[in-house]
Amino acid sequence: MQNISDIELSVIIPIYNEVDNIPELYNRLNKIVNLVSKTNELIFINDGSKDNSLMIIKQLSIENKNIKFINLSRNFGHQIAVSAGLDLCKGNAVVIIDADLQDPPELIKDMMKKYHEGYDVVYAKRIKRKGESWFKKMTAKIFYRILKKITSINIPVDTGDFRLINRKIVDCLKQMPEQNKFLRGQIAWLGFKQTFIEFEREERKRGTTGYPFSKMLKFALDGITSFSDKPLNFVTQAGIVVSLLSFIVIIYSLYGYYINGKNITGWTSIIISVLFLGGVQLISVGIIGLYISRINKNIINRPLYLIQETNC
Ligand code: UDP
Ligand code: MG
Repeated sequence: MQNISDIELSVIIPIYNEVDNIPELYNRLNKIVNLVSKTNELIFINDGSKDNSLMIIKQLSIENKNIKFINLSRNFGHQIAVSAGLDLCKGNAVVIIDADLQDPPELIKDMMKKYHEGYDVVYAKRIKRKGESWFKKMTAKIFYRILKKITSINIPVDTGDFRLINRKIVDCLKQMPEQNKFLRGQIAWLGFKQTFIEFEREERKRGTTGYPFSKMLKFALDGITSFSDKPLNFVTQAGIVVSLLSFIVIIYSLYGYYINGKNITGWTSIIISVLFLGGVQLISVGIIGLYISRINKNIINRPLYLIQETNC
């Protein structure tokens, strides 16, 4: 059994229905990790795949000593699958990479170079994204810019979770037991010595995305509520603005009645104000609800994930 400092590099690969990508991924990863490190482990986390991914990973782990697998009890989502890998990995340097080959494994070489220069975090910044819908690119772009505006920490724009972190960062992350994970934000929050390399993000090689719009939206909301209270300030400000508006309308009505001698009537104005107020109130309650749901999840404090089987 190797102890922690014996393993130079761990690679964490979350897997959700990636059966067709695993062979090529494995070949490319294996080549590069053996080039840049003497001792390494590849940790595949099966996040409740419905295809044969688990079987392939297990087979690989029988054939190779440095292949590890973690089979989660069901689908917990990408961020939690990565967290499981972080909890069990032993490397001094740890790389998080997607399984669909959108993140080229060969970049690990440049990341290791920066790591040896003494950086604690080396993240990969996308300068181009190939083959993704304009909708995904646009929403991602807008999201990262909004996030940057409303948070006080400097979360780098246009980066995913593809990055290298060192043992110090892994240990710090383990001390952050929050249930709604937004790892790229948590890592930015930690500070230390961070740098980046640039790359052109490839198309997903095979298979389909495990991140439909609904999951993306949830992830984006987790990112915002984890790192900013600004939406709550927005609720207060909206309240003040609506109160001011109502004040103007009151004066207008009184003026009409007493000075102009007319009762201001109208179905239109009533229905508009009722709907407007209803909208503002529902949005506000929704925003507050998001924060309450976070508190709720953290108070219940269930385990983040459950492992069915592992050889880690
Ligand atoms: N993934 C996962 N659990 C999920 C969804 C995705 O472990 O519930 C993995 C997936 O296998 C891949 C990575 O997370 O390795 C990124 O997912 P995907 O490529 O589907 O997301 P996209 O690149 O489309 O945002
Ligand atoms: Mg992908």
